[in-house]
Amino acid sequence: MLEGKNGEVLLGTYTSGVLKVENGVITPYLNRDNGLGSNEVRTLLLDSKNRLWIGTASGLTRVEEDGTLVQFTNKAELPSGFVMALSEDNQGNIWVGTGIGVVVFDIITEKFTTLSFPKSFAAEYAFGFYIDKDYMWMATDRGLVRYTYTTGEMAILGREQGLPVDKLFQVVATEKSFWLSSNRGIIQIEKKQIQYILNTDAEQKVIPLEYQLYDEGDGMLSAQANGGSTPSATAHNDGTLWFATAKGVSSVKPARLQASTQVSLPTIIESFYVDGKPTALPLDGESVLLPPGVSRLSFQYAGLSFIMPQRLNFQTRLKGFNNKWVNRQHSTTAEYTNLPAGRYTFMVRAGYPNAKWQQNHKVISFVIQAHFWQKMSFKLFVFFILTLTVYAIYKYRLYHYKQVEIKLISRVESQTQDLQKQADAFAYQATHDQLTDMPNRRAFDSWLAKNFASFKTQNKPLAIAIMDIDHFKRINDGWSHIVGDQVICKIAQILKTNSEGEQEIARWGGEEFTLLFPGKTAFEARVICEQLRENISNNDFSTVAQNLNVTVSFGISDSIGINDYDRLLSRADQALYKAKNSGRNRTEII
Ligand code: GH3
Ligand code: MG
Ligand code: MG
Repeated sequence: MLEGKNGEVLLGTYTSGVLKVENGVITPYLNRDNGLGSNEVRTLLLDSKNRLWIGTASGLTRVEEDGTLVQFTNKAELPSGFVMALSEDNQGNIWVGTGIGVVVFDIITEKFTTLSFPKSFAAEYAFGFYIDKDYMWMATDRGLVRYTYTTGEMAILGREQGLPVDKLFQVVATEKSFWLSSNRGIIQIEKKQIQYILNTDAEQKVIPLEYQLYDEGDGMLSAQANGGSTPSATAHNDGTLWFATAKGVSSVKPARLQASTQVSLPTIIESFYVDGKPTALPLDGESVLLPPGVSRLSFQYAGLSFIMPQRLNFQTRLKGFNNKWVNRQHSTTAEYTNLPAGRYTFMVRAGYPNAKWQQNHKVISFVIQAHFWQKMSFKLFVFFILTLTVYAIYKYRLYHYKQVEIKLISRVESQTQDLQKQADAFAYQATHDQLTDMPNRRAFDSWLAKNFASFKTQNKPLAIAIMDIDHFKRINDGWSHIVGDQVICKIAQILKTNSEGEQEIARWGGEEFTLLFPGKTAFEARVICEQLRENISNNDFSTVAQNLNVTVSFGISDSIGINDYDRLLSRADQALYKAKNSGRNRTEII
Protein backbone atom coordinates (compact mmCIF):
# COMPACT_ATOMS: atom_id res chain seq x y z
CA MET A 1 0.00 0.00 0.00
CA LEU A 2 1.19 3.49 -0.72
CA GLU A 3 -0.22 6.92 -0.07
CA GLY A 4 -0.13 8.90 -3.29
CA LYS A 5 0.74 12.57 -3.57
CA ASN A 6 -2.89 13.67 -3.59
CA GLY A 7 -4.02 11.57 -0.65
CA GLU A 8 -5.14 8.60 -2.75
CA VAL A 9 -4.02 5.13 -1.74
CA LEU A 10 -2.35 2.86 -4.24
CA LEU A 11 -2.62 -0.88 -3.74
CA GLY A 12 -0.09 -3.24 -5.25
CA THR A 13 -1.76 -6.63 -5.87
CA TYR A 14 -0.46 -10.05 -6.88
CA THR A 15 -2.95 -10.58 -9.70
CA SER A 16 -4.45 -7.28 -10.73
CA GLY A 17 -1.62 -4.82 -10.99
CA VAL A 18 -1.89 -1.49 -9.16
CA LEU A 19 -5.32 -0.37 -7.91
CA LYS A 20 -6.22 3.12 -6.81
CA VAL A 21 -8.48 3.90 -3.83
CA GLU A 22 -10.03 7.32 -4.01
CA ASN A 23 -13.05 8.50 -2.04
CA GLY A 24 -13.74 4.91 -1.03
CA VAL A 25 -13.82 3.70 -4.62
CA ILE A 26 -11.31 1.20 -5.98
CA THR A 27 -10.36 1.54 -9.60
CA PRO A 28 -7.68 -0.20 -11.67
CA TYR A 29 -4.71 2.08 -12.15
CA LEU A 30 -1.89 0.25 -13.90
CA ASN A 31 -1.61 -3.36 -15.08
CA ARG A 32 -0.29 -5.52 -17.90
CA ASP A 33 -2.83 -4.00 -20.25
CA ASN A 34 -1.70 -0.42 -19.87
CA GLY A 35 2.07 -0.67 -19.38
CA LEU A 36 3.13 -2.86 -16.39
CA GLY A 37 5.47 -5.80 -17.12
CA SER A 38 3.37 -8.06 -14.88
CA ASN A 39 0.15 -7.99 -12.86
CA GLU A 40 2.13 -9.30 -9.86
CA VAL A 41 3.10 -6.08 -8.10
CA ARG A 42 5.77 -6.54 -5.39
CA THR A 43 6.74 -3.05 -4.39
CA LEU A 44 5.66 0.58 -4.66
CA LEU A 45 7.68 3.74 -3.99
CA LEU A 46 6.89 7.43 -4.33
CA ASP A 47 10.23 9.22 -4.52
CA SER A 48 11.09 12.74 -3.40
CA LYS A 49 10.46 13.99 -6.95
CA ASN A 50 6.92 12.64 -6.83
CA ARG A 51 7.72 9.86 -9.25
CA LEU A 52 6.02 6.54 -8.63
CA TRP A 53 8.22 3.45 -8.89
CA ILE A 54 6.49 0.10 -9.38
CA GLY A 55 8.41 -3.17 -9.05
CA THR A 56 6.70 -6.26 -10.44
CA ALA A 57 7.60 -9.90 -10.92
CA SER A 58 8.90 -8.93 -14.33
CA GLY A 59 10.35 -5.50 -14.48
CA LEU A 60 10.51 -2.03 -13.02
CA THR A 61 8.28 0.81 -14.19
CA ARG A 62 8.44 4.49 -13.27
CA VAL A 63 5.43 6.81 -13.55
CA GLU A 64 6.61 10.38 -14.11
CA GLU A 65 4.75 13.34 -12.60
CA ASP A 66 2.99 13.91 -15.93
CA GLY A 67 1.86 10.30 -16.04
CA THR A 68 4.28 9.03 -18.68
CA LEU A 69 5.85 5.63 -18.06
CA VAL A 70 9.54 4.80 -18.12
CA GLN A 71 10.34 1.10 -18.42
CA PHE A 72 13.63 -0.31 -17.17
CA THR A 73 14.14 -3.44 -19.16
CA ASN A 74 17.84 -3.37 -20.04
CA LYS A 75 19.12 -6.73 -18.79
CA ALA A 76 22.62 -5.39 -18.46
CA GLU A 77 21.45 -2.71 -16.01
CA LEU A 78 18.84 -4.67 -14.14
CA PRO A 79 20.09 -8.25 -14.00
CA SER A 80 16.82 -9.61 -12.63
CA GLY A 81 13.42 -8.37 -13.59
CA PHE A 82 12.02 -9.78 -10.31
CA VAL A 83 11.83 -6.63 -8.23
CA MET A 84 10.89 -7.01 -4.57
CA ALA A 85 12.04 -3.87 -2.79
CA LEU A 86 12.40 -0.19 -3.52
CA SER A 87 13.82 2.51 -1.30
CA GLU A 88 15.15 6.02 -1.72
CA ASP A 89 18.26 7.03 0.18
CA ASN A 90 19.12 10.47 1.51
CA GLN A 91 20.76 11.47 -1.77
CA GLY A 92 17.70 10.50 -3.73
CA ASN A 93 19.24 7.34 -5.20
CA ILE A 94 16.80 4.48 -5.62
CA TRP A 95 17.79 1.10 -4.16
CA VAL A 96 16.25 -1.83 -5.95
CA GLY A 97 16.09 -5.27 -4.36
CA THR A 98 15.86 -8.02 -6.94
CA GLY A 99 16.01 -11.80 -7.15
CA ILE A 100 19.74 -11.46 -7.89
CA GLY A 101 21.10 -8.94 -5.43
CA VAL A 102 20.72 -5.19 -5.33
CA VAL A 103 21.07 -2.45 -7.93
CA VAL A 104 21.23 1.26 -7.18
CA PHE A 105 19.76 3.82 -9.55
CA ASP A 106 21.92 6.93 -9.50
CA ILE A 107 19.61 9.91 -9.54
CA ILE A 108 22.16 12.17 -11.29
CA THR A 109 23.53 9.88 -13.99
CA GLU A 110 20.21 8.00 -14.29
CA LYS A 111 22.27 4.75 -14.39
CA PHE A 112 22.06 1.52 -12.43
CA THR A 113 25.02 0.17 -10.51
CA THR A 114 25.02 -3.47 -9.43
CA LEU A 115 25.81 -4.13 -5.79
CA SER A 116 26.76 -7.82 -5.52
CA PHE A 117 26.71 -9.49 -2.12
CA PRO A 118 30.04 -11.08 -1.23
CA LYS A 119 30.05 -14.80 -2.12
CA SER A 120 30.54 -15.80 1.49
CA PHE A 121 27.10 -14.37 2.39
CA ALA A 122 25.39 -16.76 -0.07
CA ALA A 123 22.58 -14.20 -0.18
CA GLU A 124 20.53 -13.55 -3.32
CA TYR A 125 17.24 -11.88 -2.51
CA ALA A 126 16.95 -8.45 -0.99
CA PHE A 127 13.43 -8.17 0.46
CA GLY A 128 13.64 -4.88 2.29
CA PHE A 129 15.77 -1.82 3.02
CA TYR A 130 16.25 0.38 6.05
CA ILE A 131 18.08 3.66 5.52
CA ASP A 132 20.33 4.89 8.29
CA LYS A 133 22.68 7.84 8.47
CA ASP A 134 25.86 5.89 7.78
CA TYR A 135 24.51 2.55 6.67
CA MET A 136 21.98 0.92 4.41
CA TRP A 137 20.48 -2.15 6.10
CA MET A 138 19.14 -4.88 3.87
CA ALA A 139 16.89 -7.80 4.79
CA THR A 140 18.04 -10.75 2.66
CA ASP A 141 17.41 -14.45 2.38
CA ARG A 142 20.59 -15.05 4.45
CA GLY A 143 20.20 -12.44 7.16
CA LEU A 144 20.64 -8.74 7.78
CA VAL A 145 23.29 -7.08 5.56
CA ARG A 146 24.92 -3.82 6.60
CA TYR A 147 26.28 -1.63 3.78
CA THR A 148 28.59 1.24 4.71
CA TYR A 149 28.07 4.20 2.39
CA THR A 150 31.55 5.64 2.71
CA THR A 151 33.54 2.46 2.14
CA GLY A 152 31.11 0.22 0.32
CA GLU A 153 31.88 -2.53 2.86
CA MET A 154 29.25 -5.13 3.65
CA ALA A 155 28.78 -7.26 6.76
CA ILE A 156 26.12 -9.83 7.52
CA LEU A 157 24.25 -10.91 10.65
CA GLY A 158 22.96 -14.37 9.83
CA ARG A 159 22.48 -17.76 11.40
CA GLU A 160 26.21 -18.10 11.93
CA GLN A 161 26.13 -14.97 14.10
CA GLY A 162 23.22 -16.33 16.14
CA LEU A 163 20.06 -15.34 14.24
CA PRO A 164 17.31 -17.95 14.68
CA VAL A 165 16.34 -17.82 10.97
CA ASP A 166 17.98 -17.31 7.59
CA LYS A 167 15.39 -15.33 5.77
CA LEU A 168 14.49 -11.81 6.83
CA PHE A 169 11.86 -9.80 5.02
CA GLN A 170 11.66 -6.31 6.47
CA VAL A 171 13.69 -4.10 8.76
CA VAL A 172 12.16 -1.34 10.86
CA ALA A 173 13.87 0.50 13.66
CA THR A 174 13.03 2.16 16.92
CA GLU A 175 15.47 4.26 18.85
CA LYS A 176 17.44 1.37 20.30
CA SER A 177 16.32 -1.72 18.39
CA PHE A 178 15.93 -3.24 15.01
CA TRP A 179 12.74 -5.20 14.39
CA LEU A 180 13.11 -7.84 11.73
CA SER A 181 10.22 -9.73 10.21
CA SER A 182 10.62 -13.41 9.44
CA ASN A 183 8.35 -16.36 8.83
CA ARG A 184 8.85 -17.41 12.46
CA GLY A 185 7.87 -14.11 13.97
CA ILE A 186 9.24 -10.66 14.72
CA ILE A 187 12.81 -10.53 15.96
CA GLN A 188 13.88 -7.64 18.15
CA ILE A 189 17.61 -7.03 18.54
CA GLU A 190 19.35 -4.10 20.14
CA LYS A 191 21.22 -1.98 17.56
CA LYS A 192 24.18 -1.71 19.89
CA GLN A 193 24.52 -5.44 19.93
CA ILE A 194 24.29 -5.82 16.17
CA GLN A 195 27.00 -3.21 15.71
CA TYR A 196 29.16 -4.94 18.29
CA ILE A 197 28.82 -8.30 16.56
CA LEU A 198 29.39 -6.93 13.08
CA ASN A 199 32.42 -4.91 14.20
CA THR A 200 34.13 -7.70 16.13
CA ASP A 201 36.21 -10.48 14.63
CA ALA A 202 34.53 -13.87 14.74
CA GLU A 203 37.14 -15.36 17.11
CA GLN A 204 36.75 -12.58 19.65
CA LYS A 205 32.99 -12.74 19.96
CA VAL A 206 32.15 -14.01 23.37
CA ILE A 207 28.53 -13.22 24.02
CA PRO A 208 25.82 -15.15 22.26
CA LEU A 209 23.41 -13.00 20.23
CA GLU A 210 20.58 -11.83 22.44
CA TYR A 211 17.27 -11.23 20.74
CA GLN A 212 13.55 -11.47 21.41
CA LEU A 213 11.40 -13.45 19.05
CA TYR A 214 7.75 -12.45 19.24
CA ASP A 215 5.20 -14.88 17.88
CA GLU A 216 1.74 -16.31 18.56
CA GLY A 217 2.63 -16.68 22.22
CA ASP A 218 2.93 -12.93 22.43
CA GLY A 219 -0.41 -12.25 20.82
CA MET A 220 0.27 -12.44 17.09
CA LEU A 221 -2.38 -14.29 15.12
CA SER A 222 0.37 -15.72 12.96
CA ALA A 223 4.10 -15.71 13.42
CA GLN A 224 4.52 -15.71 9.66
CA ALA A 225 5.51 -12.14 9.05
CA ASN A 226 6.82 -13.08 5.65
CA GLY A 227 5.70 -10.09 3.66
CA GLY A 228 7.98 -10.32 0.65
CA SER A 229 6.56 -7.12 -0.71
CA THR A 230 7.56 -3.65 0.41
CA PRO A 231 6.53 -1.91 2.39
CA SER A 232 5.13 -4.80 4.48
CA ALA A 233 6.43 -3.48 7.79
CA THR A 234 6.49 0.08 8.94
CA ALA A 235 7.06 2.33 11.90
CA HIS A 236 4.14 4.70 12.52
CA ASN A 237 4.93 8.16 13.75
CA ASP A 238 2.95 7.42 16.95
CA GLY A 239 5.65 4.93 17.85
CA THR A 240 3.71 1.84 16.79
CA LEU A 241 5.30 -0.79 14.60
CA TRP A 242 3.14 -2.54 12.01
CA PHE A 243 3.87 -5.89 10.39
CA ALA A 244 2.01 -7.72 7.68
CA THR A 245 1.49 -11.39 8.60
CA ALA A 246 -0.20 -14.41 7.09
CA LYS A 247 -3.23 -13.59 9.26
CA GLY A 248 -3.58 -9.85 9.02
CA VAL A 249 -1.59 -7.06 10.54
CA SER A 250 0.21 -7.25 13.89
CA SER A 251 1.22 -4.11 15.65
CA VAL A 252 3.29 -3.45 18.71
CA LYS A 253 3.99 -0.36 20.75
CA PRO A 254 7.54 -0.89 22.02
CA ALA A 255 7.16 1.79 24.70
CA ARG A 256 4.20 -0.05 26.19
CA LEU A 257 6.08 -3.33 25.94
CA GLN A 258 8.98 -1.70 27.73
CA ALA A 259 6.73 -0.28 30.44
CA SER A 260 5.10 -3.59 31.13
CA THR A 261 8.44 -5.32 31.44
CA GLN A 262 9.58 -2.94 34.15
CA VAL A 263 6.96 -4.05 36.59
CA SER A 264 8.34 -5.67 39.69
CA LEU A 265 7.13 -9.24 39.27
CA PRO A 266 6.24 -11.42 42.22
CA THR A 267 8.71 -14.29 42.40
CA ILE A 268 7.97 -17.48 44.29
CA ILE A 269 9.94 -20.52 45.28
CA GLU A 270 7.63 -23.44 44.60
CA SER A 271 9.60 -26.34 46.00
CA PHE A 272 12.83 -27.28 47.60
CA TYR A 273 14.34 -30.76 47.18
CA VAL A 274 17.12 -32.15 49.34
CA ASP A 275 18.78 -35.22 47.84
CA GLY A 276 15.69 -35.77 45.74
CA LYS A 277 13.23 -35.51 48.64
CA PRO A 278 10.77 -32.64 48.83
CA THR A 279 11.49 -30.54 51.88
CA ALA A 280 9.14 -28.15 53.63
CA LEU A 281 9.84 -24.51 52.89
CA PRO A 282 10.61 -22.44 55.96
CA LEU A 283 8.43 -19.62 57.20
CA ASP A 284 9.67 -16.14 56.48
CA GLY A 285 12.72 -15.28 58.54
CA GLU A 286 13.36 -18.88 59.55
CA SER A 287 15.91 -21.19 58.09
CA VAL A 288 15.86 -24.89 57.23
CA LEU A 289 18.24 -27.06 59.21
CA LEU A 290 19.72 -29.75 56.97
CA PRO A 291 21.58 -32.80 58.29
CA PRO A 292 25.31 -33.21 57.70
CA GLY A 293 26.39 -34.82 54.43
CA VAL A 294 23.51 -33.70 52.16
CA SER A 295 24.78 -33.59 48.63
CA ARG A 296 22.12 -32.31 46.21
CA LEU A 297 19.81 -29.34 46.68
CA SER A 298 17.39 -28.14 44.06
CA PHE A 299 14.99 -25.21 43.97
CA GLN A 300 12.00 -24.76 41.69
CA TYR A 301 10.79 -21.22 41.28
CA ALA A 302 8.53 -19.09 39.10
CA GLY A 303 7.81 -15.51 38.20
CA LEU A 304 4.15 -14.53 38.22
CA SER A 305 3.04 -12.58 35.16
CA PHE A 306 0.11 -12.42 32.77
CA ILE A 307 2.18 -10.65 30.12
CA MET A 308 4.50 -12.90 28.16
CA PRO A 309 5.23 -15.23 31.12
CA GLN A 310 7.24 -17.54 28.86
CA ARG A 311 9.62 -14.66 28.22
CA LEU A 312 10.68 -14.25 31.83
CA ASN A 313 14.32 -14.60 32.70
CA PHE A 314 15.59 -15.64 36.11
CA GLN A 315 18.62 -14.95 38.17
CA THR A 316 19.67 -16.85 41.26
CA ARG A 317 22.24 -16.25 43.88
CA LEU A 318 23.49 -18.46 46.70
CA LYS A 319 24.92 -16.37 49.49
CA GLY A 320 27.54 -18.28 51.39
CA PHE A 321 28.68 -20.02 48.21
CA ASN A 322 28.95 -17.37 45.53
CA ASN A 323 27.74 -13.87 46.06
CA LYS A 324 27.02 -13.13 42.40
CA TRP A 325 23.69 -13.25 40.63
CA VAL A 326 23.82 -16.08 38.09
CA ASN A 327 21.77 -15.91 34.88
CA ARG A 328 19.39 -18.84 34.52
CA GLN A 329 17.60 -17.62 31.35
CA HIS A 330 14.20 -19.31 31.20
CA SER A 331 15.18 -22.22 33.43
CA THR A 332 13.02 -22.52 36.53
CA THR A 333 15.27 -24.86 38.47
CA ALA A 334 18.55 -24.26 40.22
CA GLU A 335 20.61 -27.14 41.52
CA TYR A 336 23.64 -27.23 43.81
CA THR A 337 25.73 -30.25 44.67
CA ASN A 338 28.24 -31.03 47.38
CA LEU A 339 27.97 -27.79 49.26
CA PRO A 340 30.22 -27.68 52.29
CA ALA A 341 28.63 -27.35 55.71
CA GLY A 342 27.61 -23.82 56.48
CA ARG A 343 24.91 -21.17 56.42
CA TYR A 344 23.40 -20.23 53.04
CA THR A 345 20.74 -17.98 51.59
CA PHE A 346 19.22 -18.89 48.25
CA MET A 347 17.74 -15.94 46.29
CA VAL A 348 15.83 -15.88 43.03
CA ARG A 349 14.34 -13.05 41.00
CA ALA A 350 12.39 -12.88 37.76
CA GLY A 351 12.45 -10.20 35.08
CA TYR A 352 11.76 -9.48 31.45
CA PRO A 353 14.58 -9.44 28.95
CA ASN A 354 16.13 -6.04 28.31
CA ALA A 355 14.51 -4.70 31.45
CA LYS A 356 16.23 -3.72 34.65
CA TRP A 357 16.27 -6.34 37.43
CA GLN A 358 13.83 -5.44 40.16
CA GLN A 359 14.16 -5.93 43.89
CA ASN A 360 11.59 -8.72 43.79
CA HIS A 361 13.70 -11.64 44.91
CA LYS A 362 12.46 -14.48 47.06
CA VAL A 363 14.74 -15.94 49.70
CA ILE A 364 15.26 -19.25 51.48
CA SER A 365 17.81 -19.55 54.24
CA PHE A 366 19.19 -22.92 55.18
CA VAL A 367 21.97 -24.38 57.22
CA ILE A 368 23.90 -27.49 56.29
CA GLN A 369 25.09 -28.95 59.55
CA ALA A 370 28.63 -30.19 59.91
CA HIS A 371 29.71 -33.73 60.84
CA PHE A 372 31.40 -33.64 64.22
CA TRP A 373 34.76 -34.06 62.49
CA GLN A 374 34.07 -31.03 60.33
CA LYS A 375 33.50 -28.81 63.36
CA MET A 376 36.15 -26.32 64.34
CA SER A 377 36.14 -27.52 67.95
CA PHE A 378 36.91 -31.08 66.82
CA LYS A 379 39.65 -29.86 64.48
CA LEU A 380 41.14 -27.87 67.36
CA PHE A 381 40.89 -30.92 69.62
CA VAL A 382 42.70 -33.10 67.05
CA PHE A 383 45.29 -30.41 66.62
CA PHE A 384 45.74 -30.24 70.40
CA ILE A 385 46.08 -34.04 70.69
CA LEU A 386 48.57 -34.15 67.83
CA THR A 387 50.60 -31.36 69.37
CA LEU A 388 50.49 -33.13 72.72
CA THR A 389 51.58 -36.43 71.12
CA VAL A 390 54.44 -34.78 69.29
CA TYR A 391 55.46 -33.07 72.52
CA ALA A 392 55.22 -36.36 74.46
CA ILE A 393 57.33 -38.17 71.86
CA TYR A 394 59.82 -35.34 71.97
CA LYS A 395 59.92 -35.50 75.78
CA TYR A 396 60.23 -39.29 75.78
CA ARG A 397 63.09 -39.18 73.27
CA LEU A 398 64.77 -36.52 75.39
CA TYR A 399 64.35 -38.70 78.50
CA HIS A 400 65.59 -41.74 76.61
CA TYR A 401 68.71 -39.95 75.41
CA LYS A 402 69.31 -38.61 78.90
CA GLN A 403 69.18 -42.18 80.28
CA VAL A 404 71.58 -43.39 77.60
CA GLU A 405 73.86 -40.50 78.43
CA ILE A 406 73.73 -41.31 82.16
CA LYS A 407 74.50 -44.97 81.41
CA LEU A 408 77.38 -44.02 79.16
CA ILE A 409 78.78 -41.61 81.75
CA SER A 410 78.59 -44.22 84.50
CA ARG A 411 80.19 -46.82 82.22
CA VAL A 412 82.98 -44.43 81.35
CA GLU A 413 83.37 -43.61 85.03
CA SER A 414 83.53 -47.25 86.07
CA GLN A 415 85.94 -48.03 83.22
CA THR A 416 88.02 -45.07 84.23
CA GLN A 417 87.97 -46.36 87.80
CA ASP A 418 88.97 -49.84 86.66
CA LEU A 419 91.77 -48.36 84.63
CA GLN A 420 92.80 -46.26 87.59
CA LYS A 421 92.74 -49.34 89.82
CA GLN A 422 94.77 -51.23 87.26
CA ALA A 423 97.18 -48.32 86.97
CA ASP A 424 97.39 -48.18 90.79
CA ALA A 425 97.96 -51.94 90.87
CA PHE A 426 100.69 -51.65 88.26
CA ALA A 427 102.26 -48.80 90.17
CA TYR A 428 102.03 -50.82 93.38
CA GLN A 429 103.48 -53.88 91.72
CA ALA A 430 106.31 -51.80 90.32
CA THR A 431 107.33 -50.67 93.78
CA HIS A 432 106.53 -53.76 95.90
CA ASP A 433 107.87 -57.18 96.29
CA GLN A 434 105.53 -60.01 95.43
CA LEU A 435 106.68 -62.51 98.02
CA THR A 436 106.66 -60.30 101.12
CA ASP A 437 104.49 -57.45 99.93
CA MET A 438 107.18 -55.06 101.16
CA PRO A 439 108.52 -52.09 99.18
CA ASN A 440 111.16 -53.34 96.76
CA ARG A 441 114.59 -52.09 95.88
CA ARG A 442 113.23 -49.58 93.33
CA ALA A 443 111.01 -48.02 95.98
CA PHE A 444 113.87 -47.92 98.45
CA ASP A 445 116.23 -46.32 95.92
CA SER A 446 113.62 -43.76 95.10
CA TRP A 447 113.09 -42.84 98.79
CA LEU A 448 116.77 -42.52 99.28
CA ALA A 449 117.34 -40.43 96.16
CA LYS A 450 114.46 -38.16 97.13
CA ASN A 451 115.27 -37.70 100.79
CA PHE A 452 119.05 -37.84 100.97
CA ALA A 453 119.64 -34.32 99.63
CA SER A 454 116.95 -32.70 101.79
CA PHE A 455 118.31 -34.37 104.92
CA LYS A 456 121.68 -33.10 103.96
CA THR A 457 120.49 -29.53 103.45
CA GLN A 458 118.51 -29.61 106.68
CA ASN A 459 121.66 -31.02 108.27
CA LYS A 460 119.72 -33.94 109.70
CA PRO A 461 121.28 -37.35 110.06
CA LEU A 462 120.05 -40.28 107.96
CA ALA A 463 121.06 -43.87 108.70
CA ILE A 464 120.63 -46.98 106.64
CA ALA A 465 121.07 -50.66 107.44
CA ILE A 466 121.46 -53.64 105.09
CA MET A 467 120.36 -56.91 106.61
CA ASP A 468 121.33 -60.31 105.16
CA ILE A 469 120.11 -63.75 106.29
CA ASP A 470 123.02 -65.85 107.45
CA HIS A 471 123.85 -69.03 105.57
CA PHE A 472 120.69 -68.95 103.66
CA LYS A 473 122.02 -71.28 101.01
CA ARG A 474 122.01 -73.97 103.61
CA ILE A 475 118.34 -73.45 104.33
CA ASN A 476 117.59 -73.76 100.65
CA ASP A 477 119.79 -76.75 100.31
CA GLY A 478 118.91 -78.35 103.64
CA TRP A 479 115.20 -78.01 103.38
CA SER A 480 113.91 -76.52 100.14
CA HIS A 481 113.41 -73.34 98.24
CA ILE A 482 109.80 -73.27 99.46
CA VAL A 483 110.99 -73.33 103.04
CA GLY A 484 113.55 -70.64 102.07
CA ASP A 485 110.70 -68.50 100.76
CA GLN A 486 108.72 -69.07 103.94
CA VAL A 487 111.73 -68.01 106.00
CA ILE A 488 112.06 -64.81 103.95
CA CYS A 489 108.35 -64.11 104.57
CA LYS A 490 108.62 -64.83 108.27
CA ILE A 491 111.59 -62.51 108.67
CA ALA A 492 109.78 -59.81 106.70
CA GLN A 493 106.85 -60.17 109.07
CA ILE A 494 109.17 -59.92 112.13
CA LEU A 495 110.76 -56.78 110.67
CA LYS A 496 107.37 -55.19 110.06
CA THR A 497 105.82 -56.01 113.40
CA ASN A 498 108.84 -55.06 115.44
CA SER A 499 109.73 -51.82 113.74
CA GLU A 500 108.71 -48.66 115.48
CA GLY A 501 107.28 -47.20 112.34
CA GLU A 502 109.80 -44.49 111.83
CA GLN A 503 112.05 -46.44 109.56
CA GLU A 504 111.35 -47.50 106.01
CA ILE A 505 111.98 -51.20 105.30
CA ALA A 506 112.42 -52.75 101.88
CA ARG A 507 113.32 -56.11 100.45
CA TRP A 508 116.59 -55.23 98.82
CA GLY A 509 116.80 -58.46 96.82
CA GLY A 510 117.15 -62.23 97.54
CA GLU A 511 117.43 -62.70 101.29
CA GLU A 512 118.59 -59.11 101.90
CA PHE A 513 116.53 -56.24 103.38
CA THR A 514 117.34 -52.57 103.83
CA LEU A 515 116.15 -50.27 106.56
CA LEU A 516 116.18 -46.47 106.46
CA PHE A 517 116.29 -44.41 109.65
CA PRO A 518 115.42 -40.76 108.93
CA GLY A 519 116.87 -38.33 111.46
CA LYS A 520 118.87 -41.09 113.18
CA THR A 521 122.57 -41.67 113.45
CA ALA A 522 124.15 -45.03 112.85
CA PHE A 523 124.44 -45.56 116.57
CA GLU A 524 120.82 -44.83 117.20
CA ALA A 525 119.95 -47.18 114.30
CA ARG A 526 122.13 -49.93 115.74
CA VAL A 527 119.92 -50.08 118.86
CA ILE A 528 116.93 -50.85 116.74
CA CYS A 529 118.76 -53.25 114.47
CA GLU A 530 120.13 -55.13 117.47
CA GLN A 531 116.68 -55.50 118.86
CA LEU A 532 115.45 -56.83 115.48
CA ARG A 533 118.39 -59.21 115.19
CA GLU A 534 117.58 -60.61 118.61
CA ASN A 535 113.94 -60.98 117.80
CA ILE A 536 114.87 -63.00 114.71
CA SER A 537 117.44 -65.21 116.33
CA ASN A 538 115.04 -65.87 119.19
CA ASN A 539 112.14 -66.55 116.90
CA ASP A 540 110.74 -70.05 116.76
CA PHE A 541 110.88 -71.17 113.15
CA SER A 542 109.49 -74.63 113.91
CA THR A 543 106.23 -73.66 112.24
CA VAL A 544 108.28 -73.32 109.05
CA ALA A 545 110.58 -76.29 109.46
CA GLN A 546 111.76 -78.49 112.30
CA ASN A 547 115.05 -77.71 113.98
CA LEU A 548 115.42 -74.52 111.98
CA ASN A 549 117.26 -71.58 113.49
CA VAL A 550 117.77 -68.43 111.56
CA THR A 551 120.06 -65.52 112.24
CA VAL A 552 120.72 -62.30 110.39
CA SER A 553 123.54 -59.76 110.12
CA PHE A 554 123.25 -55.96 109.83
CA GLY A 555 125.63 -53.50 108.21
CA ILE A 556 124.90 -49.89 109.24
CA SER A 557 126.12 -46.50 108.07
CA ASP A 558 124.86 -42.90 108.24
CA SER A 559 125.03 -39.75 106.16
CA ILE A 560 127.32 -37.83 108.42
CA GLY A 561 130.32 -36.81 106.40
CA ILE A 562 128.95 -38.41 103.20
CA ASN A 563 127.76 -36.44 100.21
CA ASP A 564 125.98 -38.97 98.00
CA TYR A 565 123.74 -41.85 98.84
CA ASP A 566 125.64 -44.39 96.64
CA ARG A 567 128.50 -43.97 99.02
CA LEU A 568 126.16 -44.41 101.96
CA LEU A 569 124.94 -47.70 100.50
CA SER A 570 128.39 -49.00 99.75
CA ARG A 571 129.49 -48.15 103.30
CA ALA A 572 126.50 -50.01 104.72
CA ASP A 573 127.41 -52.91 102.41
CA GLN A 574 130.97 -52.85 103.72
CA ALA A 575 129.66 -52.87 107.28
CA LEU A 576 127.53 -55.93 106.43
CA TYR A 577 130.57 -57.61 104.91
CA LYS A 578 132.37 -56.88 108.12
CA ALA A 579 129.55 -58.38 110.16
CA LYS A 580 129.59 -61.52 108.05
CA ASN A 581 133.28 -61.81 108.36
CA SER A 582 133.15 -61.24 112.08
CA GLY A 583 131.05 -64.32 112.64
CA ARG A 584 127.56 -63.40 111.52
CA ASN A 585 124.44 -62.80 113.73
CA ARG A 586 125.76 -59.36 114.57
CA THR A 587 125.58 -55.68 113.73
CA GLU A 588 128.44 -53.58 112.42
CA ILE A 589 128.83 -49.91 111.73
CA ILE A 590 131.16 -48.23 109.26
P1 GH3 B 1 126.16 -65.81 104.05
O1 GH3 B 1 125.25 -64.82 103.56
O2 GH3 B 1 125.86 -66.11 105.54
O3 GH3 B 1 127.55 -65.59 103.76
O4 GH3 B 1 125.76 -67.19 103.43
P2 GH3 B 1 124.73 -67.51 102.39
O5 GH3 B 1 124.45 -68.91 102.23
O6 GH3 B 1 123.43 -66.76 102.78
O7 GH3 B 1 125.31 -66.90 101.13
P3 GH3 B 1 124.75 -65.99 99.92
O8 GH3 B 1 124.21 -64.76 100.53
O9 GH3 B 1 125.89 -65.82 98.95
O10 GH3 B 1 123.65 -66.81 99.26
C1 GH3 B 1 122.38 -66.43 99.16
C2 GH3 B 1 121.58 -67.53 98.62
O11 GH3 B 1 120.18 -67.31 98.83
C3 GH3 B 1 121.77 -67.75 97.20
C4 GH3 B 1 120.37 -68.08 96.67
O12 GH3 B 1 120.27 -69.38 96.23
C5 GH3 B 1 119.49 -67.93 97.84
N1 GH3 B 1 118.35 -67.15 97.50
C6 GH3 B 1 118.39 -65.88 97.04
N2 GH3 B 1 117.07 -65.41 96.91
C7 GH3 B 1 116.24 -66.44 97.29
C8 GH3 B 1 114.83 -66.56 97.40
O13 GH3 B 1 114.08 -65.67 97.08
N3 GH3 B 1 114.31 -67.75 97.86
C9 GH3 B 1 115.14 -68.78 98.21
N4 GH3 B 1 114.55 -69.92 98.67
N5 GH3 B 1 116.42 -68.69 98.08
C10 GH3 B 1 117.04 -67.53 97.65
MG1 MG C 1 123.29 -62.54 100.58
MG1 MG D 1 123.23 -64.61 103.19
